[in-house]
Amino acid sequence: MPIDATLPYDDQNVFAKILRGEIPNRTVYEDEWALAFHDINPQAPLHVLVIPKGAYVSWDDFSARALDEEIAGFVRAVGHVARAHDLVVPGYRLLANVGGHGHQEVPHLHVHLFGGRPLGPMLA
Ligand code: 5GP
Repeated sequence: MPIDATLPYDDQNVFAKILRGEIPNRTVYEDEWALAFHDINPQAPLHVLVIPKGAYVSWDDFSARALDEEIAGFVRAVGHVARAHDLVVPGYRLLANVGGHGHQEVPHLHVHLFGGRPLGPMLA
């Protein structure tokens, strides 16, 4: 079910539990600002989720409240993951779902990184 992205942060969400080490994950990258791990239900040969370490519900919440250094650290982490998987030349896709119409299901900001095959045109 899509979430209401205007609700306060719920520290029992699944990605909060992953950040606390309460649920296992297949980490591909971690630094001070971000954690990147394989999606449990991959939609492409490479499907990684990149999440900020701070408690932000959505892209909207993050862009409104995060410190500049958090935003920079997170954006750089996403780019690092793409380069580390040699995706720059073939190309890749980034996606962040927000709220109900965006069909966001997990209420902790995450950017999907898809790669490893031609992804076709973006479908709304
Ligand atoms: P959303 O629809 O919120 O943008 O995407 C949530 C994503 O989180 C989905 O692609 C789903 O497969 C993934 N996901 C949900 N629960 C887990 C989990 O426990 N572990 C991992 N690695 N991915 C999860």
